[in-house]
Amino acid sequence: MTYRNKAILFSAPSGCGKTTIIKRLLDHFDCFDFSISATSRQPRSGEENGKDYYFMSHDEFRQHIDHGDFLEWEEVYEGTCYGTLKSEPERIWADGNVIVFDVDVNGGKNLKRYFGDKALSIFVMPPSIEVLEQRLRNRGTESEESIAKRLGRSAKELQESHHFDVTIINDDLETAVEETRRTVAEFLAK
Ligand code: ADP
Ligand code: 5GP
Repeated sequence: MTYRNKAILFSAPSGCGKTTIIKRLLDHFDCFDFSISATSRQPRSGEENGKDYYFMSHDEFRQHIDHGDFLEWEEVYEGTCYGTLKSEPERIWADGNVIVFDVDVNGGKNLKRYFGDKALSIFVMPPSIEVLEQRLRNRGTESEESIAKRLGRSAKELQESHHFDVTIINDDLETAVEETRRTVAEFLAK
């Protein structure tokens, strides 16, 4: 089945479970195609260029900004930029697929404004900031400095859920995946 020009936006502070939930949904909805963001951060172990992100230097990122290549971009953490290249949604819609975005909260708000009713915006909420901190630590991908930067930003971002169409509480993972699956299916059937 092909869907005309629809998008699903996932936003939340780092560590809330966006990637985990998206991975589960990619197995369920074969029309989903992930919008691969550009970033100036280093790859984590296991991450692949062109699959998880387009990894690039600060200079390359800056050149894309100067050429007007981004639909949106953000310096999410000091010195580390992330952005959606215009070519990603174009490619995914040309294939007749549904775009899936994993972006920070500002990026989610900007993309929702851009796509309007074509997009379902989903905020993934952790049960508490303490659980979020624990999950970030357990993931084992961040230094203490990076965890502190991420948590510093999270408290503010968690106040922003009302800007989104739906909030999913990611306490029990199976419940969160099922609720998200149901909400997405309703949106795609409209
Ligand atoms: P994000 O993409 O939002 O940064 P991740 O999907 O990487 O977050 O999740 C952060 C960590 O929390 C990962 O180690 C993941 O396995 C774990 N996690 C995600 N959801 C849950 C959950 N419901 N219960 C327990 N651990 C979870
Ligand atoms: P991470 O370094 O954990 O992969 O991502 C850090 C944050 O950057 C996450 O909140 C993620 O959603 C966000 N992010 C990833 N890609 C983009 C993007 O293209 N635009 C924006 N605005 N944020 C992004």
